[in-house]
Amino acid sequence: MKELIESKWDDILLLLETNYDMTPIIINTFIRPLKIYEVKDNTVCFYVEENRGEQAVKYLIKKEYDFFLLSAIRETLNNIDIDIRVDEKKNYIKETEETSREPMTVSDSYLAAAAKSNLNPRYTFDNFIVGDSNRHAHATCLAVADLPGQDGYNPLYLYGNPGLGKTHLMQSIGNYILQNNENLHVLYVPCETFTNDIIDAIGHNATSKFREKYNNVDVLLIDDIQKLKDKDRTQSEFFDTFNYLYNANKQIIISSDRPPKDLTYLDMRITSRFSGGIPIDIHEPDYETRIAILHNKADLDHIEGIPEEVFVYIAENFTTNVRELEGALNVLRPFSLTGEAITTERAIATLSVLVDKQGRKSLTPDYIIEIVSECTGISNEDIRSSKRSQDIATARQTVMYICSKYSSQPLTLKAIGRAVGGKDHSTVISGINKIEAKLKEDQVFKDNFEKILKMMNIST
Ligand code: ADP
Ligand code: MG
Repeated sequence: MKELIESKWDDILLLLETNYDMTPIIINTFIRPLKIYEVKDNTVCFYVEENRGEQAVKYLIKKEYDFFLLSAIRETLNNIDIDIRVDEKKNYIKETEETSREPMTVSDSYLAAAAKSNLNPRYTFDNFIVGDSNRHAHATCLAVADLPGQDGYNPLYLYGNPGLGKTHLMQSIGNYILQNNENLHVLYVPCETFTNDIIDAIGHNATSKFREKYNNVDVLLIDDIQKLKDKDRTQSEFFDTFNYLYNANKQIIISSDRPPKDLTYLDMRITSRFSGGIPIDIHEPDYETRIAILHNKADLDHIEGIPEEVFVYIAENFTTNVRELEGALNVLRPFSLTGEAITTERAIATLSVLVDKQGRKSLTPDYIIEIVSECTGISNEDIRSSKRSQDIATARQTVMYICSKYSSQPLTLKAIGRAVGGKDHSTVISGINKIEAKLKEDQVFKDNFEKILKMMNIST
């Protein structure tokens, strides 16, 4: 049977791709490195060669993918009695299992390297909870972290709604790479920093300094690329940096709140580059994942004594955004600090401030501004300011419109005007009308608008 499976190995891998929805990068990282070393009583025993796939072993032991592999083997061989196991070979697996359970050792030199790379050492793969919503994204990030700069895996383009773990995952890649090799030059930048560096360089005639900073890296991570300004010069400088690194086989990792094709205001040359690597999306966590994230966070932050019903209450009410899920848990932190018992009643009474009667997050003007800001990249201050540039005015008008239609408490025009920094009621009416018109005329705007509503759990 060993020979039979080996001769059909390519068919099995192909089946995983076509029928089991596994991406080539996951197959190449987690399945292809497996080798058969024996078949005993219909059980196929796999191992991984020691020079490959440390992560493959780790994740097969966690049984992330073995079910798919088993199904594909049974289907290909048309034999449902086959079983598989990923087994010890020279105790290799045992060793990795043990080391993987040890808490990450953090050396001073690693911390210095992380700081220089602008990475937060708190973001690691170890404390990222994996569920169906992010399994592909997580596995792909691990694969890239294991071997940065591989052909075909560049750039890694990670996208999804705010608060779903993009920054966490991309920084985990950076930290992982530095843990394995502190000498690699990793650089994480929020898109704003990147843009400001470009504007500064142009303003001070110092583009060579800019290039020195960005062209010298082995791994460049740019967070929230949707905030790249649609100014020609910013884009062309970005394009040059991208090409330079790409041609030198340096790994580029980009995050965004939307797929490349929806960055319609960016140059096509850029968006088609983004689509050319691996675009991978991350979804809202399902209920089990939310519960696991809450337990993990409570453990990490030593928030103790929370009754299980409270975890359930939070997981049921905060469904679309991990940052908010964690925020809800933070509200309970003071109880834990004072050593007071957190009764279910008290916890829910405390949390209910954040949740309205329908069990929805309370739609106050402040909350609406926060979400619009997060989705548009326009700061809260700008929304409340009297600045009139097009993108700021549109974000402000969007807030007015959502306040008028969807706020939990009915708001007068005056109250809406006050919420966005003291505008009079005629400005509010005109703002609401502008959004109404835009929603009819502008499909891209409408898509973005619906995204914002979705973030607030509003169904239309
Ligand atoms: P994004 O960049 O997509 O807006 P972040 O990466 O900032 O989201 O995630 C928001 C918060 O939620 C962070 O504190 C992050 O650590 C946490 N988080 C998100 N997803 C997970 C996960 N699967 N497991 C553990 N923590 C998570
Ligand atoms: Mg982020």
